[in-house]
Amino acid sequence: MSQRIDRLRQAIPAEADALLIIKPDNRTYISGFTGSNAYLLVGREVALLLTDFRYIEQASAECPYFVVRDYAPVLSDSLKQALDDANIRVLAFESDFVTFSTYHELKEKLGVTLMPTTGLVEKLRQVKDAGEVENMQQAALIAEAALAEVLPMVKPGVSEKFVALNLEFALRKRGAERLPFDIIAASGPRSSLPHGRASERLIERGDFLTLDFGAVYNGYCCDMTRTFIVGAKATLEQERVYSTVLAAQEQALSALRPGLIGRAFDKVARDVITAQGYGERFGHGLGHGVGRAVHEGPGAGSKSEDLFSPGMVITVEPGIYLPGWGGVRIEDMVLVTETGYRNFNSFPKELTTLG
Ligand code: ZN
Ligand code: ZN
Repeated sequence: MSQRIDRLRQAIPAEADALLIIKPDNRTYISGFTGSNAYLLVGREVALLLTDFRYIEQASAECPYFVVRDYAPVLSDSLKQALDDANIRVLAFESDFVTFSTYHELKEKLGVTLMPTTGLVEKLRQVKDAGEVENMQQAALIAEAALAEVLPMVKPGVSEKFVALNLEFALRKRGAERLPFDIIAASGPRSSLPHGRASERLIERGDFLTLDFGAVYNGYCCDMTRTFIVGAKATLEQERVYSTVLAAQEQALSALRPGLIGRAFDKVARDVITAQGYGERFGHGLGHGVGRAVHEGPGAGSKSEDLFSPGMVITVEPGIYLPGWGGVRIEDMVLVTETGYRNFNSFPKELTTLG
């Protein structure tokens, strides 16, 4: 935690005296505080956490590197006092999170120059330390064990919601503190919806079923997708689409190493899909960073200029979606290492018939 504060101090623009952190994921990352309400002030000399009465004891225990103070009765008065005490004249803030009304309130009450910044803490969050990687591995293990538990319940005639509900129960039972997003369970023609949330639709013989889901463990997310066939052998076209997506993913994984740029990584998979004639039907980016948030940096889509470096965690999730017919997506979450990558997932990827 003290290293994170040091790295942040180096990242704060020279013209600013301190950064005000309000965004919850950033706040937890920098301070360790897991409650729902606190304001961090981090400058060269200062590391202050302002919270309310409910959280004083918790914050003092969780945040050894911060001075913890109760901001009652009025936040802006306490904040102004803290700025004056630390001689802060220019205050950087998270401009992609602070609302318009909060900005005006701060501007009116604090009497300092406010400097908009974006992504200062987010950039640090992109490179995970060993503890973060361990939490994400644990989340992935929970997800795979839950999936294995639920697959025997999938057969023609059960609804997408039935599958999703049982999967959610298995995830929670195995230690997920929450789900990072609503489970995507899309069957048959609905599998062409890349983000088709589970519906009342009854799964039919011969359907594709795409399950995209994750778990949160110690505040860290995982994200995975598998696509199955239900109740029948795959048709030739289903096999062709599936094997194209799988080949695209395998090619991308074999190209993954530090120094690669997001869009170049995306292109490896996209080229495989385009060569089979499905280029137009892969309408999203190849992947995204994962961490405290299920979608964070670095980007791994066709426009991403982000450079991969060891410690980054990204998803690799090519897909093909044919409206009215169905779709396939396969997603693993991987850690970029010094020499290549390490896959958090080991769940089989051969096309499998359920039920
Ligand atoms: Zn996913
Ligand atoms: Zn994803």
